[in-house]
Amino acid sequence: MAEESLKEFPEIDVIVRGEGEETLVELVKNAKRPSAFPRVRGISFRYKGKIFHNASRTLIDNLEDLPYPGYHLVKDLTQKYHFAAMAGRKAPYALIEGSRGCSHSCSFCTQWKHWQGTWRTKSPACIAEEMTFCYNNHGSRFIWLTDDNLGSGNRIGEIANEILKRNVKELMWFVQARCDDIVRNESFLPKLRQSGLRWVLLGVENSDQAILNEYGKKITLEDAKKL
Ligand code: SF4
Repeated sequence: MAEESLKEFPEIDVIVRGEGEETLVELVKNAKRPSAFPRVRGISFRYKGKIFHNASRTLIDNLEDLPYPGYHLVKDLTQKYHFAAMAGRKAPYALIEGSRGCSHSCSFCTQWKHWQGTWRTKSPACIAEEMTFCYNNHGSRFIWLTDDNLGSGNRIGEIANEILKRNVKELMWFVQARCDDIVRNESFLPKLRQSGLRWVLLGVENSDQAILNEYGKKITLEDAKKL
């Protein structure tokens, strides 16, 4: 895609490929010195009429090393969008990332491929702390935990515990999860509800077990029906 885009659109000088945070910082530091571009991992760029693709950058080890996104920079913009059906038209909201990637590899899904088959997670405490930060500093009352897959086991219960430890009583949140994970971790549901979880988007994907198997989805129709 980088090659095609640079060829087709002469207006584009540089493309950051893959995970962008570290690459973009390095690129901006060198923005006025295109001669330094060959040393910036993770970019494709045009120089003196030719297109170059540098080696890819390795994924960030620990997502918790990243600073919070500049929520203050989008404060006015978020009002143009809303989660009316979920939270009400006027509820201030924020999108928070608790993980990247997925531990599964469904054949139709781009996410696990994009993140090179890895699933990197922030700790439950870190997620709850960021929710609290948005709640206290930006008035966020609705949080979309943007993870493609919430995960399973103690992690789910711990996220709820960590939110409940904090003083965020009006908080509502929403997440995407797998049917089998929710069915297997049913015991955590009351606590999740108590922590403000109001919506869970579940990937049933298909009503034919043979197709689900072909997708490598590894859930059963029974899991979906139980929900
Ligand atoms: S479980 Fe969901 S996020 Fe993970 S690979 Fe399958 S569809 Fe993608």
